[in-house]
Amino acid sequence: KTKSQPNKSVTPMMEQYLAIKAAHPDSLLFYRMGDFYELFFDDAEVASKALDIALTKRGKHAGDDIPMCGVPVHAADSYLQKLIRKGHRVAVAEQTESPAEAKKRGSKAVVAREVVRLVTPGTITEDSLLDARSHNFLLALARAGKDYAMAWLDISTGEFFAASTEPEELAAQIARLQPGEILVSDKWLDEANFSELMNEWGKALTPLPSVRFDSQNGEKRLKALFDVATLDAFGAFNRAELAAAGALVDYVELTQKGKFPLIKVPVKLAASDVMSIDAATRRNLELIRTMTGDRTGSLLATIDRTVTGGGGRRLAADLSSPLTDPAKIAERLDMVSYFTSDHGRREQLREILRRCPDTERALSRLMLGRGGPRDLAVIRDGLGETANIRAGIATSGLDSLPAGLMTASEQLGYHAELVELLRAALAPDVPLLARDGGFIARGFRVDLEELRTLRDESRRHIANLQAAYAKDVDVPSLKIKHNNVLGYFIEITPRFVDKMTEQFIHRQTMANAVRYSTVELGELEDKISRAADRALALEISLFDELVGKVKEAGPAILAAAEAIARIDVAVSHAELAVEQSYCRPVVDNSLSFEITGGRHPVVEAALKSSAEADFVANDCCLNEAQRLWLLTGPNMAGKSTFLRQNALITILAQMGAFVPANTAHIGVVDRLFSRVGAADDLARGRSTFMVEMVETASILNQAGPRALVILDEIGRGTATYDGLSIAWATVENLHDVNQCRSLFATHYHELTALASKLDALQNHSMRVREWKGDVIFLHEVGEGSADRSYGIQVAKLAGLPKAVIKRAEAVLTALEEKDQGSAATRLANDLPLFSTVIAESAAQEKTKMPSKLEERLKTINVDDLSPRDALNLLYELKELG
Ligand code: ADP
Repeated sequence: KTKSQPNKSVTPMMEQYLAIKAAHPDSLLFYRMGDFYELFFDDAEVASKALDIALTKRGKHAGDDIPMCGVPVHAADSYLQKLIRKGHRVAVAEQTESPAEAKKRGSKAVVAREVVRLVTPGTITEDSLLDARSHNFLLALARAGKDYAMAWLDISTGEFFAASTEPEELAAQIARLQPGEILVSDKWLDEANFSELMNEWGKALTPLPSVRFDSQNGEKRLKALFDVATLDAFGAFNRAELAAAGALVDYVELTQKGKFPLIKVPVKLAASDVMSIDAATRRNLELIRTMTGDRTGSLLATIDRTVTGGGGRRLAADLSSPLTDPAKIAERLDMVSYFTSDHGRREQLREILRRCPDTERALSRLMLGRGGPRDLAVIRDGLGETANIRAGIATSGLDSLPAGLMTASEQLGYHAELVELLRAALAPDVPLLARDGGFIARGFRVDLEELRTLRDESRRHIANLQAAYAKDVDVPSLKIKHNNVLGYFIEITPRFVDKMTEQFIHRQTMANAVRYSTVELGELEDKISRAADRALALEISLFDELVGKVKEAGPAILAAAEAIARIDVAVSHAELAVEQSYCRPVVDNSLSFEITGGRHPVVEAALKSSAEADFVANDCCLNEAQRLWLLTGPNMAGKSTFLRQNALITILAQMGAFVPANTAHIGVVDRLFSRVGAADDLARGRSTFMVEMVETASILNQAGPRALVILDEIGRGTATYDGLSIAWATVENLHDVNQCRSLFATHYHELTALASKLDALQNHSMRVREWKGDVIFLHEVGEGSADRSYGIQVAKLAGLPKAVIKRAEAVLTALEEKDQGSAATRLANDLPLFSTVIAESAAQEKTKMPSKLEERLKTINVDDLSPRDALNLLYELKELG
C-alpha cells in the first residue's frame, strides 16, 4: 500500500510524486523523468505485469524499497495502448519546466510536474491507439425523473449526439454504439438491476460522482462551450439529455486538462429515427463482427469497399444504425445509383479518395495540442483533394447531381488558401514532432534560411578545420567528432599524443583514444548551437502559427471530412452493387416485404471465393395474406441462411445500400429481432435454453406491427414435448398478438398443422432430392411443408458408421408404422383457439378483486397533500396493507 503521509524521510521528489498520485488515485501515474515515464509503488507492480517489463527498485520510502518500472517516452504509445486495452487509465505527468529553471528556485528544487492528460479508452486520439475503421465513442448515460438519456461523442472526430431512450432499450442502444468508454453515475451503478445490465461493459465503465450528472450544470457547460445564450437552436433537450451531454463535456475537460477538441454542436436524435436492433440480434447476425469476434466474415467486412478511414467509420456507423425514414433512405440510395451508372467516374473518384488521409483525426490532435508537423501535412493533403473530388463527382454537370451529393459537394468547401500556405510552408519530408525541427520548407522564410545557412556553414567550417589540424600536427587520422557529453572534440589515437601542440586542450583519455578541444572549435560550436536553437525556436513559432490557421478552419475541415466519408460510402456501395449484382431496393411506409432472387451476402461471397458451388437465390414474400412463414426442412438444407439473408437484406436496404437480390420491396422495419443459432452465453452463466427463452420472451413482449422477427429452431434446447409446445404457442402469439412479419424455421413438422388454423401463416420448406438413398440439398425454398426430416441421410453424409445408420433406419420404419403423423393435426383442431386463451387470461386478470389498499390509492391526489398529510397517509396505507 502506498503510504502517502509525507514525512521527513521523504525526498522532495517523492513528496511531489505522492501529491500528484493522491490527486489521481484511479489512474496509473506516468511520471516523467528525463527520457522515461516512471511508475512507482502499486502502479509499478500493476504496470510491470500488464506490460511484461522489468520491475526494479529505487530508493526507500518509510523504510521499504520503492518498486519502480519505466517506459521510454519515445515508445510510450504502444505501452499506453496495451494498458488501455487491458482496462487501465493512465495519468501522464510531464515536466513543466527545465532542470535549469528549477535550479533558479533553489539548488534542491524539484522540477515542476503536472498531469497534462488523462488517457482513458474513450478519449484517445493517437492513430496508433485507435482503429482507423471504427468510431471510438465516449458515452454518458443519465436519468432525470422518468427520463433516460444518453449522449455520445467521438473525441477524435468531434461528432456529438444526444438521445432519449426507454430504460428497456438502453442495452440495445449501447450495443449499437459499441462505445469505448461509458460514463455513469456511481449511485446509479449501485442499483442491482442497472449494474447487471452494465456488467458486460465492465472495463469500459467509468463511474463518476452523481453530481457530475446535474442537468443545470450540464446546460451551463453546453452554453459556455458553444458560446450561446440558449440551446434551442440545437433542439429541445430534456433534463436527462442535458445531464448526459454536460457530463461528457465535463469529462473531456477533466481528462484533457482544459484543452478542448473541436466538438460539433450536439445533434438530438430520436430513438425512432433508427431501426432498433437488440444486442443479441446484432451478435447473431454478425453485423460488425462474427460470433467469434473476428471482423473477417462479418457483414461489414463483406460489403466494405471504402478506401478512406473516415469512409470506413461512416460505413460501420450506418450499418449499426439503419434508418427508418423512407425519404432519407432514398436520398442515400440516389447517391449510390448515381455512382453505379458510370464506371469511369467511380474509378477516377476512388483513385482520388485513396489519396485522402485521415483529416478528422489529425485535426483533433492539433486541436488538443498533441499534433505535429505530420498532422499539418495530413490536413494539407486531405484538403488538397477536395477540389478534385468535387470535380470528380460532377463530371456530367451539377444539374444531374442527386440532393445528397449536392450537399456533400458544398460541404467539401474551398480551401485553396490554407492548402497553398501549407504546401509552401512544409518541407517534403516532415518529422513526427515539431521539436525535431526541419519541417519548414527551404526558402519559406528568409530569417529561418539565414540561421540555417549560418549553422550549415559552421558545420562546413568544422570539416575544414579537421583537415587543417591533421595537416598542422601531421596526424592524418585525426578526427573531429561529436557527442552529447563533450559536444565537438578532436580525437587521435594515443600513440600520437606527443605530436599535439599547445593549442590543443586535453579533455579526456580513453583506452584507444585521446580527446582535445581548441578555442576555435569551441567558438564554432557555440555559433552552431546558437543558430540551431534559434532556427528551431523560429520553426516552432511558425508551427504554432500554422496550427492556429488550421484551428480557425476547423469547422470547415470537419465538414469536408464528413463529405469525403459520405461520398466514399456511396461509391463503396456502388462498387459493391456492380461487382456483386446487387439491386436498388424500394423502401416505403407500406407493410410489404417482397424479395425476389434474394441471396445471403456473406455466404454467397464465401461460396464464390471457394468456387465450390453457386449460391441458390430464393424469394421471400411476407404480405397481409402470409405474414408468417413457417419454414421446415432437414438440417443443412439452408434454413438459417435463408432466415438471416432476409434480415441482412432489410438492414442493407435501410442503411441506404443496394441489396443482394433481383428486386426488393420493403415496408420500413422499425425493429428487427432475431433468435438464431444456439450460442451459449456462458459468460453470463446462462444455459443455452435459458438464453433462448430470454431472447424469445423479449421478442414476444416487444415486437409491434412494423417489426421483422426471425426465429430459428425455438425450443430445441429442451425435451421434445416441452420444446414443441413452446414453439407452438410462440407461433400463435406471433400470429395473433404481435401480428408482425415473421420467419419461423423449425424442425418440428407437427407445427405445419397450424396452417389450417392461422390465416396469415404459410408453410414453406427447403427442397431436397433423394437419389439412390442419399439426400441432395437444393437450397431452394418451396411452398408447402417438408414431408420428412432426412435426419438419417444427413447423419450418413456426416460419416456415422454404417451399422448405426442401418439400425436407425429400422427403428424409424418401426416408429413410422405406429403412425403418429395425424396427432398434430388432431391437436390443432382440438386445442382451444389461442385468441380465446388470451382473452380468458386477460379476463382473469381483470376480475381479480381490487384490494382495499388499491382502492384507497385510487382516491389519493398527491398534489393536494401537505407533507404532514402525506405522512399520515403513509401510516394509514401501512394499516391497510
Ligand atoms: P440449416 O439451417 O437448414 O441447418 P444452413 O442455413 O446452416 O442450414 O446451411 C447449411 C449450408 O448450406 C451453409 O453453410 C451453406 O454453405 C449452404 N447453403 C445454405 N443456403 C444455400 C443457398 N441458398 N445456396 C447455396 N448454398 C447454401
